[in-house]
Amino acid sequence: MDINNTYDIIIIGAGPAGLTAAIYACRASKKTLILEAKNYGGQIITAKDIENYPATPHISGFDLATQMYTQALELGADVKFETVLDISSDKRVLTNKATYQTKAIIIATGSDYRKLGLDNEERLTGKGISYCATCDGKFFRGKEVAVTGGGNSALEDALYLSDLCSKVYLIHRRDEFRGDAATLNRIKSKENIEIILNTNVTKINGEDFISSIEITDKDNNTKELNISGLFIAVGRIPYNENFGKTIELDDNGYAISGEDCKTNVPGIFVAGDFRTKTLRQLVTATGDGAVAAVNAIAYINTYNKGDILN
Ligand code: NAP
Repeated sequence: MDINNTYDIIIIGAGPAGLTAAIYACRASKKTLILEAKNYGGQIITAKDIENYPATPHISGFDLATQMYTQALELGADVKFETVLDISSDKRVLTNKATYQTKAIIIATGSDYRKLGLDNEERLTGKGISYCATCDGKFFRGKEVAVTGGGNSALEDALYLSDLCSKVYLIHRRDEFRGDAATLNRIKSKENIEIILNTNVTKINGEDFISSIEITDKDNNTKELNISGLFIAVGRIPYNENFGKTIELDDNGYAISGEDCKTNVPGIFVAGDFRTKTLRQLVTATGDGAVAAVNAIAYINTYNKGDILN
């Protein structure tokens, strides 16, 4: 193996979790490579205004990600924009361009919001359509909005928005919610939440900004709702391609891991949205990045002494 292709730690994904892991790894003098298939920054790169990250009351996702990226590079991380095709338990990483050998791997590929797949959905995202009520709810203070989905995310989004908005329509495609009963009971006690069951959002209307949605019930009756915001909470899709045959995933495709960010394979760690966890936010992603890196460093230091631990 070419010496240029050997590293102490390879981090897959250059979002907040991966970049934080790189900062910690480099500060511990580990030879670190970040592999990223697209652009640095992950999901936050398009966030207009982040105000829930401590000490930065207002910052754009682009600026925050750029600062993290620059910091990782200045500390000595290598970055290659390559797509990882395979990893092995003996810590080989195959990309579309090369094969690398490393002592520890941190997977920080994240997850993406599931889309409804409707016309105008992509165009009006950030213009009335959001996938994150806690990020964007404040832009809809005093307005009428809709939430679609039937899991805990949709229920919690509807509750959160009901304290900010004049009216919240909660639209679910079945007659039973997947989310838990306690949260549903709180929803039912809110006068400004209207639950609409057995119904799908079938059209999104608006030019520069969303103006209304069409909803269709199971008998094919349609209705137009004039709303200022649509919050889509129909689940997430983890970026798990190529990892499932090496590490253990849960039924939803997330890497099974506790707060220590360890996977079932010694020396392979997971940080950020791709791991099983309850709160998928910027601050928990960066926290994971630090934990995963510290545990990867401890693993390498032990491994170098010939005693492999996980
Ligand atoms: P989820 O539990 O997978 O629920 C997704 C919901 O979206 C389901 O109700 C599903 O309908 C609906 N859906 C999926 N595709 C759709 C489509 N194309 N059109 C319309 N509706 C669609 O996802 P989640 O709510 O994001 O939660 C993910 C996990 O995180 C869950 O395990 C959840 O319990 C957990 N979570 C926990 C907390 C907490 O503990 N505080 C908070 C949030 C999330 P069907 O029901 O008909 O399939």
